[in-house]
Amino acid sequence: MPPANTSSTSLPVFCATACVAISVISLAGWAAGIDWLTSLAPGLPRLVPMTATLFLLASLALWSQTRASAPRSVQGVAAAALVAAGAVAILGGHAVQQAPAPFALGVDSYAFTLSSPVTAAMFLALGASLACMQWPRMLRWGQWLALGLLLMALLTMAGYVFRDTFLYALLPGKGTSLPTTLSFILLALGVLALRPAEGMMVAVHGSGPAAWVTRRLLLSALIVPVLLGAATSMALHAKAIDIGTAIAFLVWGMAALFTAVVWVFALVLQRYDAARRQAERERETALAALREADARKDDFMALLAHELRNPLAPIRAAAEFLKLGNCDPAQMRRTSDIIKRQTDYMVHLVEDLLDVSRARRGLIALDKVPVDLVDAVSDAVEQVKLQIARRGHRLDVDLPDRHPSVLGDHKRLVQVVANLLGNAAKYTPEGGHVRLQLRADDQQIAVEVRDDGIGIDAALLPRVFDSFTQGTRTAGRAEGGLGLGLALVKRLAELHGGDVTAHSEGNGQGSTFVLTLPRMQRMPDGQLGGRTAARLPLRS
Ligand code: ADP
Repeated sequence: MPPANTSSTSLPVFCATACVAISVISLAGWAAGIDWLTSLAPGLPRLVPMTATLFLLASLALWSQTRASAPRSVQGVAAAALVAAGAVAILGGHAVQQAPAPFALGVDSYAFTLSSPVTAAMFLALGASLACMQWPRMLRWGQWLALGLLLMALLTMAGYVFRDTFLYALLPGKGTSLPTTLSFILLALGVLALRPAEGMMVAVHGSGPAAWVTRRLLLSALIVPVLLGAATSMALHAKAIDIGTAIAFLVWGMAALFTAVVWVFALVLQRYDAARRQAERERETALAALREADARKDDFMALLAHELRNPLAPIRAAAEFLKLGNCDPAQMRRTSDIIKRQTDYMVHLVEDLLDVSRARRGLIALDKVPVDLVDAVSDAVEQVKLQIARRGHRLDVDLPDRHPSVLGDHKRLVQVVANLLGNAAKYTPEGGHVRLQLRADDQQIAVEVRDDGIGIDAALLPRVFDSFTQGTRTAGRAEGGLGLGLALVKRLAELHGGDVTAHSEGNGQGSTFVLTLPRMQRMPDGQLGGRTAARLPLRS
């Protein structure tokens, strides 16, 4: 059974219903003796009761295939088989009628006569098509048969439109009636619309460029000849042109119009192609960026393992030393200092990792209160004092007399400044000079951390705030790190409504980092202003 989720119901149901209506009206016409209900116009072939009955069966077969709950294999096939059998019966009937006596039945009443052999052949195709639609493997055949039927019915319709009896009445008095033609068109369309995403219908289904162009080309292929034909036919009937001119006009008109149509679609395809190539280029760029990010992540994993393993060796050695149990209090203190320093470093690494992951998911929550930035900077200096002293650097701190404030999270602001100071200490050879300056104007506060260390390469400078970005590791920069600190600094500065920038003249030229933050305004009464300052407690 075909998968239910690829079936379409509205158009097939509409077609089946319309076809039932045509058949019922024509049967009513036969019963009430109103001729035009069976032919739509006087003098034209009529839809005979036998044909109406087969249409009712075919509509049932089509409708049952749109119902997922109905036992389609039973109803659909049974009805389709009856349609096909009816068609065979008509064809057989014709053969008997044409046969010499005594085999001929001689049935002559128009009401009970058989419909035309062309109509019978179309029913045969319809029955077979409906039956094929039941099995996925045969579905394509069912659709081809429906398409053939549609084209055949359109040919008959062309006979009516262009008033050519040859096309709809091959045998005198036994033509394919207008309601019959309409019903075949409806049923063929209904079958084609049954499974639009399967079989040959994929060519015209969906929003892809191929389907889009095919749909419009098909429409042009149907409309252009009809319009030209109608124009030529009208001119011929009005005796405005002779048959030679009509043929020449038709041929030239078709050629000209199809050339125009093909040209327009070629241009459309060109546009699609250009858009596709552009998308391809963007995909390649995105892929390259992804590969690079992946490679950086791999490097990062290796670095992380390395950085986490480094402190373990001194901790293990300290543990072994303590196990011996024969150390004096001074040795004991030194050993415990080693353990503390190394575990602090590990905690710092893990906290950075957690912070970056929180920042990526937008989960960093700031506890915003008015913060005296001189306090925050002093706390940060306190944190890195030991590291700076260990490396023998000179640290100059230049703070203003008046204490500017920001609305922010004290702990995070300390973390930002300490990170910049820590980097300055780390990336400056021993005995260097680190300078911190805090400046403030009415609107902004700037914290500048300058060092005369190894500097930042021009190629690295634009990426220095990206996660996992690090300069080449040399003996001078052996103090470790994961390449996450500045990414965090940037994120935290942004969360405070500020920014951070990096400057360096290049390798060996030192570096300068400037953190800018929006300043909280001081009110005339001495209180701190700002969005929420008036309601918030001021830190002492
Ligand atoms: P980490 O220090 O863990 O490598 P960061 O994100 O803090 O990570 O820094 C990223 C990179 O920026 C560092 O690897 C280093 O190459 C460069 N960098 C940061 N600060 C400085 C500085 N003050 N001087 C020179 N290079 C620096």
